[in-house]
Amino acid sequence: MQSAVVQYALEPLAVELRDVAIPEIGDRDVLPRVGAVSVCGSDVHQAYNTHSWTVNVPVVLGHEFAGTVAKAGRAVKGFREGDRVVSETAAEVCGECLLCRTGRYNLCPHRKGFGYGIDGAMASYVKVPARCLHQIPDTLPFELACLAEPHAVAYNAMCVNSQIRPGDSVVVLGPGPIGLLCARMAALAGADPLIVVGRSTDARRLETARHLGATHVVDVSREQVEDVVRGISPLGADLVCDASGASRPLDVGLALARPDGQVTKVGWSPDLVAVNMNPLVQKNIRLQGSFSHNYPVWERVIHLLDRGVTLPKKIVGLTTALEGWREAFDAMHEGRVIKSVLIP
Ligand SMILES: [Zn+2]
Ligand SMILES: [Zn+2]
Repeated sequence: MQSAVVQYALEPLAVELRDVAIPEIGDRDVLPRVGAVSVCGSDVHQAYNTHSWTVNVPVVLGHEFAGTVAKAGRAVKGFREGDRVVSETAAEVCGECLLCRTGRYNLCPHRKGFGYGIDGAMASYVKVPARCLHQIPDTLPFELACLAEPHAVAYNAMCVNSQIRPGDSVVVLGPGPIGLLCARMAALAGADPLIVVGRSTDARRLETARHLGATHVVDVSREQVEDVVRGISPLGADLVCDASGASRPLDVGLALARPDGQVTKVGWSPDLVAVNMNPLVQKNIRLQGSFSHNYPVWERVIHLLDRGVTLPKKIVGLTTALEGWREAFDAMHEGRVIKSVLIP
């Protein structure tokens, strides 16, 4: 048996530390010993029952993890005991559909991810299909390697699903972990000006945004975001990334984008809102959703993490043992830290 952080019902705060069985692996699976697992905004959403996706309860939370291979199935090639690895999140895909066959298995209609559809990694051991794994360099510690997943979300949103050229004006709405990593990816892609937008409760996160390359930050409780953006880029922004984790700001994104600009939505919520879509047509805006990530994105972000250029230490505010999971979740929920990391 092992201790695990389990969501056991679809109601707020139905999460607890429970004893669960150590998973049995099949021929094509690997059993990593979890070295570190970071808490995702989505784990916090699930804990408060404010998520937008189907959750199979009871389920072990956690999909952002790195560890050491403890056991490998008989048919596994390329990974063996002792290898240091990170795992992608698409724990189950069909392998047959157009998207799977073209390497875009993150969009497979049958995809199930760790931590909501399949038991995740907030435990000592997690069962992983070998196709999900990537080797990581010895120079990359687990506490940073586990951040590969949110890095991959941000890289896919900003560097694959959006187009940024050096000197483009980019606005990021929502300075949560994903928003800040999106801002960092935009900075690395050459965005300038780079404007990160939050509320007064985000003061520390906005400060972090500056360290990650934001040229301007806007606190919407004190300033009109549209005035600020138009003061910097009179036509509007080349790209607005909505990482707010709410539905409403789509309106703001459409208002802030310049004619022929882009809006990329990466944060989501179950809220239904009425949005004025006219600017989408009138300004010829390209509206793009961004979900998850795939193999080439992971290989890139592992390299970037190892090089340290994404400044990952700036977003980790709390590192604790698995038993400290509640404080780790609360600290993120209350905005005291940007990201928490658990060491099972
Ligand atoms: Zn995540
Ligand atoms: Zn498929």
